[in-house]
Amino acid sequence: MNHLPNTMRAMLLEASRFLHLAEVPVPRPGPGQVLIKLRACGVCHTDLHIVDGELPNPKLPLILGHQIVGEVVACGPGAERFQTGERVGVPWLGGTDGTCSACQRGQENLCDHPTFTGYTVDGGFAEYTVADERFCFPLPPAYEDIEAAPLLCAGLIGYRTYRMAGDHVERLGIYGFGAAAHLIAQVAKYEGKRIYAFTRPGDRAAQEFALQHGADWAGDSTTKPPETLDAALIFAPVGALVVEALKAVRKGGTVVCGGIHMSDIPAFSYSLLWEERVIRSVANLTRRDGEEFLALAPRVPVKAQIQVFPLEEAGYALDVMRSGKLNGAAVLQIAST
Ligand SMILES: [Zn+2]
Ligand SMILES: [Zn+2]
Repeated sequence: MNHLPNTMRAMLLEASRFLHLAEVPVPRPGPGQVLIKLRACGVCHTDLHIVDGELPNPKLPLILGHQIVGEVVACGPGAERFQTGERVGVPWLGGTDGTCSACQRGQENLCDHPTFTGYTVDGGFAEYTVADERFCFPLPPAYEDIEAAPLLCAGLIGYRTYRMAGDHVERLGIYGFGAAAHLIAQVAKYEGKRIYAFTRPGDRAAQEFALQHGADWAGDSTTKPPETLDAALIFAPVGALVVEALKAVRKGGTVVCGGIHMSDIPAFSYSLLWEERVIRSVANLTRRDGEEFLALAPRVPVKAQIQVFPLEEAGYALDVMRSGKLNGAAVLQIAST
């Protein structure tokens, strides 16, 4: 590892909840870990929730970022899965204990002692990072680095959310048409669904964006769709949408909440839930979700609309996302100095 620099540029989140560019030591890979030289890292709503203090107890100071695309440049003791020079992706689930009851049930996304990339350990808003090789993914070669990054969270979590809508879904509602929605709408379209996109009331730009990315109908979140929905996915962190979605789904239909954080759900009449409607959430991802989605994505083919920012503009990228003015996915393109 002699050829590696000792320090690197990273965007650090300090307790002040303010991202700043810093020169920090290049991490060294521990047992079972690979050292990755970053090429791109997606920016996610979860990053925004961490910066805004809506998720408890992040590691501080912290390097955010859990949609990592880079090249393996060194392997720690016992790490044999990847060769140096191979391109890998690192998602939000960075590790599990492998022993708790959830892991043993095959629900590693619900592990009692998980590691989350860019939250409980450092992530990818930097020139280098380390990751447990067992939780990295080989990436489909059809995708450029910046195109592959959003697949690793917006795509993966979107995919898990979509699958949780269940079978027998022909008419699918999607509330909040951002990064995850525009990727998963392409999969749903490929699988023959009709898609109804709901945006902030009056947000014509977002409705137009949804129509360009596979939606058959787009409208305000407060309006009823022209047909009853079989299921609805909620990607916007707004609890009131759960009630709106319940009003729109048929008997036995499912409303799936795809985000990690949501405002309170207002009280609603039991009659909206009656007739076996279901509300459920989706937490994290399993490696199997990742393998399935990354195999499916190039067949669709899923194509992300991306807005590219340099590493040092990560804070600006988060501001654009917070303003709701981002169409598609934000990606940091990371060129080493
Ligand atoms: Zn994410
Ligand atoms: Zn576990």
